[in-house]
Amino acid sequence: VALTGTGLGTLRAASRDLQAQLVALRSSLHQSPELGLWLPDTQALILNALRELELPVILGRTSSSIVAEVSGRRYGPTVVLRADMDALPVTERAEVGPVSRIDGRMHACGHDLHSAMLVGAAHLLAARRNELAGRVVLVWQPGEEGHNGMQMMLDDGLLDVIGPDAVASYALHTLTDAVPHGVFTGRGGASHASTGSFTVTVRGQGGHAAFPHQAVDPVPAAAELVLALQVRLTRTVDVFDPAVVSVGTIHAGTAPNVIPAEARLQGTVRTFSPAQATWLPQLIQQTAEGVAMAYGVEISVEYEAGYPAVVNDEGELEVFRSVIGELFGPDRFAPLRSPVPAGDDYSRLLEQVPGAFVLLGAGLPAADGLIHPNHSSGAVFDESLLADGAAALAAVALHRLRTAQARKENDDDATE
Ligand SMILES: [Zn+2]
Ligand SMILES: [Zn+2]
Repeated sequence: VALTGTGLGTLRAASRDLQAQLVALRSSLHQSPELGLWLPDTQALILNALRELELPVILGRTSSSIVAEVSGRRYGPTVVLRADMDALPVTERAEVGPVSRIDGRMHACGHDLHSAMLVGAAHLLAARRNELAGRVVLVWQPGEEGHNGMQMMLDDGLLDVIGPDAVASYALHTLTDAVPHGVFTGRGGASHASTGSFTVTVRGQGGHAAFPHQAVDPVPAAAELVLALQVRLTRTVDVFDPAVVSVGTIHAGTAPNVIPAEARLQGTVRTFSPAQATWLPQLIQQTAEGVAMAYGVEISVEYEAGYPAVVNDEGELEVFRSVIGELFGPDRFAPLRSPVPAGDDYSRLLEQVPGAFVLLGAGLPAADGLIHPNHSSGAVFDESLLADGAAALAAVALHRLRTAQARKENDDDATE
């Protein structure tokens, strides 16, 4: 089922009519960034921008999340659109566009744009209720930057609100560098890494460094473990399903002539598949146990899992790609060649509802003439893309509900 050309033309025109309103909203969000799970000002700005639509809205109990719903005139399945809301503990250095009014806080990952784009999509969808067969659930999520915000929303009952008829979910994320300006990109399968971190404590027995045979030295055991982890990784991890393990800190001892009683290592893990995300903690544990046995020390490992990998559904990515092509022309979508080693907890929703995470190149040069990456104090995002983002989100939801309806009618014809 193709989107009709005229329908897309009016959707694009309508999104451009919203542009000034979206720029104003994004500027307000950008000037008052908030961190973590509780974002009262951000929540109020978004709710205010939705008010005239009179949509049913549910606010989070354990965070400042917002869930709103656009219901079509006819019955049908559910599509979920997700945006993140939180900022980063960074002091903004940019002199281009709106600037944060709060020292030590900055929307350096574009979440202000994503929130405004989803508000735009809400307006576009609400104006097309008559065309909709089904529901679009709009999700604004706080606490993406390491605060487990999506898990809080799931614990709050997000899946109950989404309901059993969800067929797809979609999210957009802006990147200043790595993606050409104005280009949407994404890949089927693994898109963003799963993260994990670990702390290893090696316990021996301290002593005089001139009498090592009377002590149990944890230092060579720690050194062996750093190397053994890398070797074990290359011998057990498929090069086409890669993983990274890096030891970032190593601490032991107080004096050159003293054998310490303990050494401590900390590191990080990145994987791109559930299989490796399960294997890497075991790899670290097994290697630690082996080194402990060989060196006569005690080794304990604390492993902390971060976000799961973002894994896009091939079919849903194709839906998003074709919608971008029809909306803006095929040049505006480029395939993402390899996964991104950053994480995003939209992955937790993708584990429940298949979907696609699509990136949008939105970088502008800072005052120094350079384009700085996401999370950098110099990152500058292009607000002129807000209408396009809103149109893309609305169009993919409209299109997905239409194809689900067409499929259902075909099935009904077949059974009659
Ligand atoms: Zn980020
Ligand atoms: Zn982000």
